[in-house]
Amino acid sequence: MTKLAALWNPMADDSQPTGWISTDAIHLSNLIRQGIQPTPLLVCAGGTSSRCAADGLWTLDLRARHRQLIISEEGDEVEIGAGLTMAEVLSGLQIHGRSIPVGLSTVPGCGFVLTGGIGPLSRSQGLAMDHIVGLRGVWGNGNIFDLSAPTNPASPGTASKNETHQQWKGLLGAAPFLAVVTAIRLRTQKLTPLVIWRSVCSVQQLEIAIEAAEQWEHSASLQWAWNENIELFIACSANDPAAIKAVETLKTLLGHCSESSMTIVPGQHAQPLFGALATSTAAQGRIHSEVSSRLGPAWGQRVPSLLRDLNQLIRGRPHPRCQISAQQLGGMSSQIPVSRTSFIHRDAIWKPWVTAAWSAGDPKGREQALDWLFHANTILTESCPGVHLTQIHPHLPCHKAELNDAFQDWLPGLKHLKSHHDPYGLLPPL
Ligand SMILES: Cc1cc2nc3c(=O)[nH]c(=O)nc-3n(C[C@H](O)[C@H](O)[C@H](O)COP(=O)(O)OP(=O)(O)OC[C@H]3O[C@@H](n4cnc5c(N)ncnc54)[C@H](O)[C@@H]3O)c2cc1C
Repeated sequence: MTKLAALWNPMADDSQPTGWISTDAIHLSNLIRQGIQPTPLLVCAGGTSSRCAADGLWTLDLRARHRQLIISEEGDEVEIGAGLTMAEVLSGLQIHGRSIPVGLSTVPGCGFVLTGGIGPLSRSQGLAMDHIVGLRGVWGNGNIFDLSAPTNPASPGTASKNETHQQWKGLLGAAPFLAVVTAIRLRTQKLTPLVIWRSVCSVQQLEIAIEAAEQWEHSASLQWAWNENIELFIACSANDPAAIKAVETLKTLLGHCSESSMTIVPGQHAQPLFGALATSTAAQGRIHSEVSSRLGPAWGQRVPSLLRDLNQLIRGRPHPRCQISAQQLGGMSSQIPVSRTSFIHRDAIWKPWVTAAWSAGDPKGREQALDWLFHANTILTESCPGVHLTQIHPHLPCHKAELNDAFQDWLPGLKHLKSHHDPYGLLPPL
C-alpha cells in the first residue's frame, strides 16, 4: 500500500521505504510467518520519531487499523488502539472527566506510552507507562499475545508465571525491540486543571530554578528549553496549594523574567506549546533532526558547571534549531520498583534531551549536527548516566551505547527475551 498520510517527523516523511503495511494482528502474524524482507520492520504509531520509516525498509503503519477507544463503565480504564495519538486519547477521555498523563505535547502516538514517555504530571501521577494494565499484539516471531499486568510481580511463582512477568517487564519500555503492540489498556486519572507558569530567563535564573525544583516535594515540575532564549515551563495541579505556593516563591526569588505568564488550563489537552518562547525566529525550510535523551539524579552542586558547559554548547550549535531541553521527574515516577518495567532509571530526577537539527538535503550540516549531538551527550553523561530510549537510533553509531545506558544490567534479560520472541531479528536490534 502507499503511505496513508504525511508523517509528523519530516525526516521519516522524506524517506523512501520499500513499502507500507497496514493490517490487523492476525494478518500481521501470518505475514511475519511468511517472512518480511528486508528487516528490521519499522513501526509507525504517532509517526513522530526519526525511525518510524526509513529508506529501503518496510513500515507497519498502525494509524489506520488500530484506532479503538473503549472506556470502562466506571471510566477508570480505557483500551486504546496503538494508532491513536495522545491528543485523540485525551479528547476521548475528556468527555468522561478522565485523563492519562501525557508529555509536553499531545502530538506523539502510543510510542510515547510504550517507551516510558515523561510529562509534566510524571511527578504527581507517574509515567503513562505506569498506568498500563493490559497489552495485546504480535511478538516478532509472529505469536499473538494478550497480557494483563501481573498481580503480584514480587512473589516467586511457577515457571510460566515468571515468564509472563519477564514478558511484561520487557514490553513496558522495550516493546520496539520485541513486539508490535496493537492495543493498550490503561488506568485513567480524574481530569484536573493545571497551573502553568512560563517565562524567559537568564542562565543565572535557570540555575536558581533548578536548585529550587530539586527541593520540591509536591506536584510542581520544572521543564526548560534552551535555544536562542531559555524558556522556563512550570506545571502543577491547580488543586495543590503547596505546589502553587512554591511556584509563587520561585517567581519572587527569580525577580524579573520577561514574557512571564501564568495560566490555568482544564487539563493537558489544553496545555500551551512548550518551547515556543525559546526561539523567536521561524524555521527556514525543511528541517531534519535526531533527538537523544538522558536520565540522571538530582544535580545538586553540579548545576553551575553543567550550565556553563551547556551554555558553551548552545553558543556553538551548528544550526539554529539545535536545542537542549529538560524535564523533571521523581515523586510518583520513582515509586515503581525497578524490577517491574524496562524503565529502570527510577531514581532519575532530570531528563535532558538534545535536538540535533539540520536543513534537509545538507549532508555536511547533518554530520556537524550529529557531532554536536554526540559531544552534548558526552557532556551530559557525567550528570545523567542513564538513557531514555524514547527515540531509538539503530541507524547511528551511538545505538549500542544507548542500549547499555538505557537498560544496564537488565540488557541480558532483554536479549534473552528477544532470542525467544524475535529470534530472527524482525524488529530493530538489541
Ligand atoms: C512534539 C513532540 C513532543 C514530545 N514530548 C515528549 C515529552 O514530553 N516526553 C517524552 O518522554 N517524550 C516526548 N516526545 C518523544 C516521543 O514521545 C517519542 O519519540 C515517542 O517514542 C514517539 O512515539 P510515536 O508513536 O509518536 O512515534 P513513532 O515514531 O511512531 O514511534 C516511536 C518508536 O516506538 C516504536 N513503536 C511505536 N509504537 C509501537 C508499537 N505499537 N509497538 C511496538 N513499537 C512501537 C517505533 O518502532 C518507533 O521506533 C515528544 C516528541 C515530539 C515529536
